[in-house]
Amino acid sequence: TASDPKGRQAALYAELERRNPGEPEFHQAAREVLESLAPVFASRPDYAEPGLVERLVEPERQIIFRVPWQDDRGAIHVNRGFRVEFNSALGPYKGGLRFHPSVNLGVVKFLGFEQIFKNALTGLGIGGGKGGSDFDPRGRSDAEVMRFCQSFMTELSRHIGEYTDVPAGDIGVGGREIGYLFGQYRRITNRWEAGVLTGKGTAWGGSAGRPEATGYGSVLFAAEMLKERGEDPAGLTAVVSGSGNVAIHTIEKLAALGAHPVTCSDSGGVIVDEKGIDVALLRQIKEVERGRLDEYARRRGSSARHLPGGSVWDVPAELAFPSATQNELDAGHARALVAGGVRAVSEGANMPCTPEAVHIFQEAGVAFGPGKAANAGGVAVSALEMRQNAARESWPQDRVEDELALIMADIHRTCRETAERYGSPGDYVAGANIAGFERVADAMLAQGV
Ligand code: GLU
Repeated sequence: TASDPKGRQAALYAELERRNPGEPEFHQAAREVLESLAPVFASRPDYAEPGLVERLVEPERQIIFRVPWQDDRGAIHVNRGFRVEFNSALGPYKGGLRFHPSVNLGVVKFLGFEQIFKNALTGLGIGGGKGGSDFDPRGRSDAEVMRFCQSFMTELSRHIGEYTDVPAGDIGVGGREIGYLFGQYRRITNRWEAGVLTGKGTAWGGSAGRPEATGYGSVLFAAEMLKERGEDPAGLTAVVSGSGNVAIHTIEKLAALGAHPVTCSDSGGVIVDEKGIDVALLRQIKEVERGRLDEYARRRGSSARHLPGGSVWDVPAELAFPSATQNELDAGHARALVAGGVRAVSEGANMPCTPEAVHIFQEAGVAFGPGKAANAGGVAVSALEMRQNAARESWPQDRVEDELALIMADIHRTCRETAERYGSPGDYVAGANIAGFERVADAMLAQGV
């Protein structure tokens, strides 16, 4: 209860583990938020009343479905599809779809739970959800990906809608997949309902600047954190992990701000490029050819090395952008980064740093931007895409980028001020968790049980 906030938080956590067995990522994500909330329960008894947090950690709806599809040789495959509609207190469920062999219910729940608070922080009236499949797109032809997407949407279509649930991309789901998914939704429903998915092509309802938004936003968030300390990214060396949509646009924005991004990675290894990553070459290999990073080193020449078993976190740098996947940066990596002089870490991926790594950064006085805040630019521009769709408008790139910069500055300010209000100045984890929680909690309390 309110008089024993730590005890209440521990009891909540134990009950959550008991009710959600075998879902370590969800436990991790929920525990982090619940820990941040202890001071909130102490000062706001209405938030600590039994019922509110119990409702918050239980998804409103969890959908699991069969996704059968035929490969190019005629063989039948059966994958599993998920959509977790976690919380709609602030707006329609909103969040991406992830296609990756590691996807299971616990992973989708962790992502959906994070999305609730991230989306609340944007202030744009979107609830939290997430979905995906254990389908592995790697090595699959366009035709196979299309048939998979069509089968996935055949079931998903009955659960989504512009006022209900609005999916988008995540790992393994980009413009190509959103196109196939949208085509199937339109075919099944006989509706031009642009606002049912975001991340669409700009010729058919998509927003300019959506592909760039997550990576650009993550760099803008880092720049805001540095500004607090009287610094700026120009001239600083940056390490970036990943080589997908988020990493590519993180690297592009860093270079535009005069920083020096020297790494990227994929599941086959890392690239260290002393001259700075060549974004055009990286895009050609990853987005056009859908190839592997060893190819980057082959074509780039002597400045670049490909290290098959290496880690980008061993490269000394002032800035770090984990932009690949969950739990990719552990305590050992964090210590290496701190030893290498890191000053700011901005999470482009969702929960890429383990709790131990986050602790090490914060103890060392490193400015740490959690994914809920730092990578919220992607879903924020998705909300702007929904706004454009509702008004039948399409905004130019510079308008979207201007709005993105304002939104990231606003999220940064909200996190900073909330952390200060609860006595942890500079703690963006506490700030993001508490500020996101307050907005969702207020809406849930107002709307009743
Ligand atoms: N998958 C992205 C995220 O993790 C974007 C979600 C969206 O645009 O709806 O926030």
